[in-house]
Amino acid sequence: MSREELVDKIAMHVREILRLVGEDPDRPDLRETPTRVARALLELTEGLRREPPHIKFFRAGKKIESYVIVENIEFFSLCEHHLLPVIGYVSVAYKPEHDEVPGLSKVVRLVQWYSRRLILQERFTQELAWVLLEKLKASSVYCKVLGIHLCTMLRGVRSRTSRLLTEAWAGDITRDELVMLRKLVKCRSLKI
Ligand SMILES: [Zn+2]
Repeated sequence: MSREELVDKIAMHVREILRLVGEDPDRPDLRETPTRVARALLELTEGLRREPPHIKFFRAGKKIESYVIVENIEFFSLCEHHLLPVIGYVSVAYKPEHDEVPGLSKVVRLVQWYSRRLILQERFTQELAWVLLEKLKASSVYCKVLGIHLCTMLRGVRSRTSRLLTEAWAGDITRDELVMLRKLVKCRSLKI
C-alpha cells in the first residue's frame, strides 16, 4: 500500500472517531484534521516500517578499551496503552568490539529510528540495548531512559511531576562496569 493510500485509510477512521467523541468532522476547521492526524501517526510510528539507518564506521587505529557515552538524545514515542506521547532522553554507553567506531550522529539516528513506534518504556529500554549492541558492533551497551508519559500526566492519576527512569544493558558487561555506568551515565532533568 502506498503512503497516500495509508493516509486515506487512517483518515477515514479518524473521521469516525471525531464523530464518536461528539464532533462534526465536516465542520470547516476540522476538514483537514483526519489527514493531519493520519500523517502525524505515521510519522510517530515510522520506525515500524522503515529500515534502520545505515551506519558508517570510522577506523580508530586500535581497539577502544573504554566506554563511549552519548547523553541526552531526545526521543519521542507513543505509549502502547493509550497512544499518547512519551517524550524524554536516552543516554547510551557502549564499548566498541573492534577498532572501529560509528559516527556520533548515527547513535542519535538509531535511537530516533527505534523510538518511533509504540512502546512500553521498560521493554523499549531493553530492546534498545540489544539493537544498539548489534548495530553499533559493540561488545557491551548500557542504556538509561528518562520519560514523561502524557497518559500519566493528563489522565488517570494526573501526575505532572512523575518521571519514569529505566535502565538496561546488553553484552559482555561486568558487575564493576555496571556500578560505574549507573553513576556516570545521566539523563538531564525534564520539565514540562
Ligand atoms: Zn500510556
